[in-house]
Amino acid sequence: MPIRVLDPKVVSRIAAGEVVERPASVVKELVENSLDAGASQISIEVRGGGVSLIRVMDNGVGIPSADVELAFDRYATSKIGSLEDLESISSLGFRGEALPSIAAVAQVDITTRAADEPVGTYLSLQDGEVVNRESQGRSQGTTVAVKNLFRKVPARLKFLKSLATENSHIANVVSRYALAFPEVRFVLFIDSRATLRTPGSGRLIDSIIEVYGLEVARNMLEIKDKGWEGGVVLSPLVTGMVGSPAISRSNRDYLSLFVNRRWTNSRLLAWAVEEAYHGLLMSGKHPVAIINLSLSPKEVDVNIHPTKSEVKFQNEHAVFSAVQKAVRRTLIELMPVPKIEAVATAYGAPSVPRQELLVSAEAESILTPSPPLAHQTPAVTLPALRILGQLSSSYIIAEGPDGLYLIDQHAAHERILFERLKDQRSRQEIEVQGLLQPVIFEVNPKQEEVLKSQCENLAEFGFSIEPFGERTFLVRAVPALLANKDWAEMVRELLDFGGEKGDWGEKIAISMACHGAVKAGQVLTDDEMRELVRQLEQIAVPHTCPHGRPTMIRLSLGQLRKELGRI
Ligand code: ADP
Ligand code: MG
Repeated sequence: MPIRVLDPKVVSRIAAGEVVERPASVVKELVENSLDAGASQISIEVRGGGVSLIRVMDNGVGIPSADVELAFDRYATSKIGSLEDLESISSLGFRGEALPSIAAVAQVDITTRAADEPVGTYLSLQDGEVVNRESQGRSQGTTVAVKNLFRKVPARLKFLKSLATENSHIANVVSRYALAFPEVRFVLFIDSRATLRTPGSGRLIDSIIEVYGLEVARNMLEIKDKGWEGGVVLSPLVTGMVGSPAISRSNRDYLSLFVNRRWTNSRLLAWAVEEAYHGLLMSGKHPVAIINLSLSPKEVDVNIHPTKSEVKFQNEHAVFSAVQKAVRRTLIELMPVPKIEAVATAYGAPSVPRQELLVSAEAESILTPSPPLAHQTPAVTLPALRILGQLSSSYIIAEGPDGLYLIDQHAAHERILFERLKDQRSRQEIEVQGLLQPVIFEVNPKQEEVLKSQCENLAEFGFSIEPFGERTFLVRAVPALLANKDWAEMVRELLDFGGEKGDWGEKIAISMACHGAVKAGQVLTDDEMRELVRQLEQIAVPHTCPHGRPTMIRLSLGQLRKELGRI
């Protein structure tokens, strides 16, 4: 075939492929346009996983009637005008590609009215060509409706995932922007159901409550960067909220990183945040964090990729260190755990041979990975303890004949439940809770393989799970211990991290114990604390949780006297 310049229609279809990968990309571009238009209210409606319909409505500045067609021309934008502007972009859009790209792969209807115009404009496009234009009454703002996405691009359509997956990508995009713009009121309808609604109060915590729920919101700590240090204005400025380690997650999906309020997937930022949690999270766990970096647009290049989700910083080192420090400082100042660890190490490792800590070969196998000795208490069994109180809603303070005990309530409860589950399973007495309606449980291909081979093991612990088609299973019953907990998350975590080898019975028991146990941050009554400690006293290996972490530290009277200089 001779070389020739491609027909403009082919060009726009190719280019559209870069911007519009899936329905969620359309939602992202339209929401960004609404935000750039200064909207304080944005309503998003999707049907059929976003393929049948995506409609985004805002109360922003609107498009002047004379410019509406122009907005659908490639590289037509009102946001930058010159090369210099490209150096300092303060809007989310600037490439003038989204509307023409979307119109190249879907049917688009737009109605819009600018502030100083008496009436709005309605425009309808098919295959990127205008097929209808009318005047239409409406309030100030813009509504873009995208229908039959990818109908004429079967290759793309074929690669889309299930409706549930596409919907979850859409909900994810809207959630991120709701977190980045707490002053904007968002509402998302998926197939007529309002799945997300934020109040637009301007307070990040209010958006967090709506996106992640109260439990997460309660455990969020605000980053208190003042904006200046030693009289010098800080750049970049780091703001947002980070989760205490008590609400860590098993993947990075709960990390929301924004640069000048643009959602990015910068690895550098993610790394800086995770570094700040170093030593505070168990391996394989990731934090919840919502972080915005404000810096002069000149110091960051967002023009790297058509989706604008990647950024390049002029001074990567300064950015990394600003984020790492701001997050670390917040965690250290507001969170109790490191202080307790500091106390434990300050007293050094007890001079007790390792085997004395263990009661049996069975206990040995539970203690993997081996816990650091410095955090262990030397006694094997627990003496009777008197409860003194609760510290930071996470630790039980108790007095024993030989000193002071600080008991990690979550880790201790985990150990108790683990022992109980092992026992109940061997006697086939696990309590089961039937579900009122079977629940459809979707998994990814990797999880599917593991789950198929583990249904029987899970059944021994009270999960009734059966295959129900491609990558779906039907759950009819769950262990009573987890009936009111997020058992789906537990099973997914287990499938992701269980690996191929090892004792699955033990792995399931560990996971169930972890998810069933009281959490750090939960206030306990005196009776509850007494009961927990009483159960712990009866356990053969009370000093570590099934993951191998210590459940308690002990400060002997001798150590206390020594520390206070009264030998
Ligand atoms: P970009 O956002 O990169 O400028 P788009 O193709 O997304 O490119 O949009 C083209 C232009 O259409 C924008 O520059 C803006 O002037 C106008 N526009 C698009 N959506 C809206 C909206 N919701 N409200 C006001 N103007 C809009
Ligand atoms: Mg845009």
